[in-house]
Amino acid sequence: MTDTRITDGHPVATRAVGTPMVEIDGVHKFFGELHVLRGVDLEIPGGSVCVVVGPSGSGKSTLLRCVNQLEEIDAGRIRVDGELMGYRTQTRGGTPELCRLHPRQVARQRSRIGMVFQRFHLFPHMTAAENVMEAPVQVKGVTKAAARARAAELLDRVGLADRAGHYPAQLSGGQQQRVAIARALAMDPELMLFDEPTSALDPELVGEVLAVMQDLAASGMTMMVVTHEIGFAREVGDQLVFMDGGTIVEQGTPADVLDRPRHERTQAFLSKVL
Ligand code: ADP
Ligand code: MG
Repeated sequence: MTDTRITDGHPVATRAVGTPMVEIDGVHKFFGELHVLRGVDLEIPGGSVCVVVGPSGSGKSTLLRCVNQLEEIDAGRIRVDGELMGYRTQTRGGTPELCRLHPRQVARQRSRIGMVFQRFHLFPHMTAAENVMEAPVQVKGVTKAAARARAAELLDRVGLADRAGHYPAQLSGGQQQRVAIARALAMDPELMLFDEPTSALDPELVGEVLAVMQDLAASGMTMMVVTHEIGFAREVGDQLVFMDGGTIVEQGTPADVLDRPRHERTQAFLSKVL
């Protein structure tokens, strides 16, 4: 998705006043001595899809987890829709200082972000519909009737209208992952994070999950997707980011990065996955 469009030879800003949906600015993350994110800068425009690829251990999951505040960052800033994640600025004696937000406020920020993992993490003792209803009822105080109606709508959207009463064990991996996507959407997120959503699936079930994600992208959802599905990256991604060793080595349009990688490390990685 482009920020500007050329009309009559003049660039016309289509998002002139909008801030990017995600702004990652100089982010560092340590696990003890291990320096896992080493100064990551990334902007994701609202309504666009950013695909993140890179070798195992390069920090992809950690980056997603930092955006969603499952991990605290050690330096830098992350903003979602212009809002600083995890902190507020407070001016003391004329100097702005960062103060950690109260866990309740962190929870409120996190509730605006949906996340889908490699393993589906559905509640095994709840039906598909009950899994989708759970957070709106427990976190948002939505009535059960309203949550049930919305769950039916969302399960229909992911192609599972006829599976609402099934338990996870009665569903295939692809169906479970689609329930997990419906469950994340039930909170009306403004941003969706996907961490290798098809890596645990049998090959024949990958397509049905990617199709739901493609549909979601087409509806205008802002998405950050870690995946090894290069076809999906090329077709659905607006930008593609290659990470290695805790940094973004290369980024651009999927066609640029995939067809004309500029860095040796990107070329080496792509030669293995393409
Ligand atoms: P990727 O998703 O790209 O495979 P990760 O973000 O999972 O990479 O991991 C990046 C590095 O951080 C790896 O070396 C991993 O072992 C390490 N790491 C991830 N999570 C933790 C943790 N909770 N504690 C310690 N080290 C971690
Ligand atoms: Mg990972």
